[in-house]
Amino acid sequence: MEKLFSPWRLRYIASDRRRIRGCVFCRAVKGRDDRANLVLYRGRSAFVILNKYPYNNGHLMIVPDAHLPTLHDAPAATLAEMMALAVRCESALQAIYRPTGINLGMNLGRSAGAGIEGHFHLHLVPRWDGDTNFMTVVHGTRVIPEALASTYRRLRPLLAGAGGDGGLPAGAAATPGRRRRGSGRRR
Ligand SMILES: [Zn+2]
Repeated sequence: MEKLFSPWRLRYIASDRRRIRGCVFCRAVKGRDDRANLVLYRGRSAFVILNKYPYNNGHLMIVPDAHLPTLHDAPAATLAEMMALAVRCESALQAIYRPTGINLGMNLGRSAGAGIEGHFHLHLVPRWDGDTNFMTVVHGTRVIPEALASTYRRLRPLLAGAGGDGGLPAGAAATPGRRRRGSGRRR
């Protein structure tokens, strides 16, 4: 399972032409092959997807189904579901990767660094002490020791096994028990 994304950023930039042809998130919403599209979980109005060009192992994104450029455009229920999914993702990442920290963040608009403009999304990036090492700083490269397929296999049961309640309403997704089968437990 050794995988070296080096230089991973170049691959990302090289894919720019494809991205312009359409929105990868909208394609994922409409797609039928969740595994191929790296979709880990589908809620009612938002979904969880692995980042194809991860900053770290377990780099997830929570994305509304609708193509929305700003938070302001999103229904309150969608925003609430996204935060509930963040709770679920946090638990899944903790259970599998035992990170010592997790970055959550959004890049709204090009100047903020949005890779996919027009369809906002929330990043979750697990962090470990010392994970920003000399390779990242000096060479702009990132060593990703785990293959995406492996990340997908490990995380999907924890997210998908949590039942179809989509993380809504707030609290429902955070409540162990009901339709959750063991592996999806949070605590
Ligand atoms: Zn879109």
